Amino acid sequence: MDFSEWPKIELHLHLDCSLGFAVVNEFEPGITTADFQHRFTAPPKCQNLSDFLSRVEDSIQLLQTERALTAATLDLLAQLQADNVIYAEIRFAPLLHTQKGLAAAEVVEIVSDALAIGIGQTGVEAGLLLCTLRNYSAEQSLETVHLAHRFRHRRVVGFDIAGDELAENPQAHEAAYAFARQHAIPCTAHAGEARGPESIWETLRYFQPGRIGHGVRCVEDPALVDYLVKKPHPSRSLSHQQRTNQRFPHPRRSYHRQTISGRYFPGHQYRRPHDGECYAQRRIPPPAKYLRLGAGAFFAL
Ligand SMILES: [Zn+2]
Repeated sequence: MDFSEWPKIELHLHLDCSLGFAVVNEFEPGITTADFQHRFTAPPKCQNLSDFLSRVEDSIQLLQTERALTAATLDLLAQLQADNVIYAEIRFAPLLHTQKGLAAAEVVEIVSDALAIGIGQTGVEAGLLLCTLRNYSAEQSLETVHLAHRFRHRRVVGFDIAGDELAENPQAHEAAYAFARQHAIPCTAHAGEARGPESIWETLRYFQPGRIGHGVRCVEDPALVDYLVKKPHPSRSLSHQQRTNQRFPHPRRSYHRQTISGRYFPGHQYRRPHDGECYAQRRIPPPAKYLRLGAGAFFAL
């Protein structure tokens, strides 16, 4: 089946993991394809989550200026248009992009402005998720969620936590998630990739997110899967356009798209897929119209 013409929804997409060759070449003229592949794309297999995250560093270093952030955002919208994506949620950690003098608020403003331009150019509808990181302090997480609140009318649609789960210190981020709940900011959280179901339970307990990102290892705990399937859907505001999900083999360069993909299970069904990947999703009538690019989001339904 040719999925290329299907309209798609992309709900798990990292800005700093999606740099195209043209953007990198603009800031590093003369970079070879081989060097680009080595430094800006993930290998077929990473050793673990820490190994994977270490490969994003060059992208972060590049995305430290208004010009680079704008170019990357516009390029990503063009990539999504080429994939026939009709709605996307793009996430990034604003505090990672302040190494050359930008304030975190300026970073959000730049990406938000670029997103609006890109939407106008491509017709792809999109929102932003602002990420804190697992190794951040309580203050840094609060700063990030405050930005999500401040910019919620400028295409910021939610708050997320990402980063290395082995640097886990959930208590540090409880206040930020509490702030989000108090202000009705939709939340997601990466969990389970490094520490398995235990991490997902912990994340649900401390943060109460509407969605779990990369929660593929929930399959190791049937009680957890049962809980996720039965839990009422709390966050349609992030994903109101979704209808169905389907595995989608894609050729592009995003780290996440290379490592984790989604799978559709009709009507709340769940099963362990052949290759260790998992996706479970409530099916919302009317019947299938949209196809989501798989990216490992696991909804707490
Ligand atoms: Zn992710």
